[in-house]
Amino acid sequence: MIKTDILIIGAGPTGLFAVFEAGLLKLKCHLIDALPQPGGQCSEIYPKKPIYDIPGFPEVLAGDLVTNLMEQIKPFEPGFTLGERAQTIDKQEDGSFIVTTNKGTKHHAPVVVIAGGLGSFEPRKPPIANITDFEDKGVAYIIREPEDYRDKKVVIAGGGDSALDWAIYLADVASEVSLVHRRNDFRGALDSVEKVEELSKIGKINLITNAEVTDLKGEEELDSVVITHKDSAREKEIKETDYFIPLFGLSPKLGPIADWGLEIEKNAIKVDNAYDYQTNIPGVYAIGDVNTYPGKLKLILCGFHEAAIMCQSAYQRIFPDKKYVMKYTTVSGVSGFDGSKKEAKKEVVKSIN
Ligand SMILES: Cc1cc2nc3c(=O)[nH]c(=O)nc-3n(C[C@H](O)[C@H](O)[C@H](O)COP(=O)(O)OP(=O)(O)OC[C@H]3O[C@@H](n4cnc5c(N)ncnc54)[C@H](O)[C@@H]3O)c2cc1C
Repeated sequence: MIKTDILIIGAGPTGLFAVFEAGLLKLKCHLIDALPQPGGQCSEIYPKKPIYDIPGFPEVLAGDLVTNLMEQIKPFEPGFTLGERAQTIDKQEDGSFIVTTNKGTKHHAPVVVIAGGLGSFEPRKPPIANITDFEDKGVAYIIREPEDYRDKKVVIAGGGDSALDWAIYLADVASEVSLVHRRNDFRGALDSVEKVEELSKIGKINLITNAEVTDLKGEEELDSVVITHKDSAREKEIKETDYFIPLFGLSPKLGPIADWGLEIEKNAIKVDNAYDYQTNIPGVYAIGDVNTYPGKLKLILCGFHEAAIMCQSAYQRIFPDKKYVMKYTTVSGVSGFDGSKKEAKKEVVKSIN
């Protein structure tokens, strides 16, 4: 059982900054995220895009913002459960909560903060009856480590940028790459389409269009992929296939959180924005893109603000008898749990006094 003061579901920018705000109050945080890396939408969807509306940064790449947030929270040593989805929540007699993930990891905390953004990103799966039998046994929906495919026989399906770009990349890594797309035209960028066609001409990509993967075969692991041509209904089997990678995009879903008894409006969690971003379940807060209230803006800076307010309320909930006096970080510095302290600059303190 992982124990912490504040359990944060979602390691997007909002969840990460909440660790910092909680750390200033000496509250320890643990984060759960369904993705294998922190950063939420910034890391998963647009790491190389510049953001222009983070206060104090005229321009910052989304990926760099996440790197900076991770650096900023380092002194507070947050724990991470990555690659697991928060599945169930159970209220204990003392008012605390146990949150269990889809892989069975249990987390215990007096306060739960949902910073789940648009929800957990789930891969769109093709309608192949037995596909789940081969998940992690040859079927992958996300390419995390391209080197895993070195000298392997790979079949990719999809017609967007992701399928095209990975087919191009893996053409130099895998022993054989087939790209299967159900139409003759691709949705991806024109230069990627041209590159795939060039690689197909020189035999580095086996391009199969107007066709779909309709069946997977294998005993313990994936062994062959059956492809059906749409017009002729002719079947072709690619034998001794190591990996089948359907890249049809990721769709965000509020998922299991929708069944936790929270008040939901238009796929978002209703919160009390007049006070502390608490939900209808006392002790459960919702901050960032996942919440809704009159005038809500789904912006990173709004998530940061909500995180700061939430932490003050969470502190009072955890320590009802203690009074917290807010201090500027210029005065208090940033004191980590290991005792390391970034000293406040004396001149700044003087100028405030
Ligand atoms: C292309 C694009 C450009 C954008 N540009 C800007 C911009 O310029 N400025 C700006 O302010 N905003 C921008 N945004 C919006 C911004 O990215 C979001 O407001 C921000 O990411 C919200 O942060 P968050 O932490 O609340 O949620 P998210 O970033 O969505 O993170 C939520 C995390 O929670 C996880 N999660 C959800 N449910 C569960 C569960 N049950 N178990 C485990 N994990 C779970 C998800 O996997 C995800 O990692 C842009 C968005 C996009 C898509």
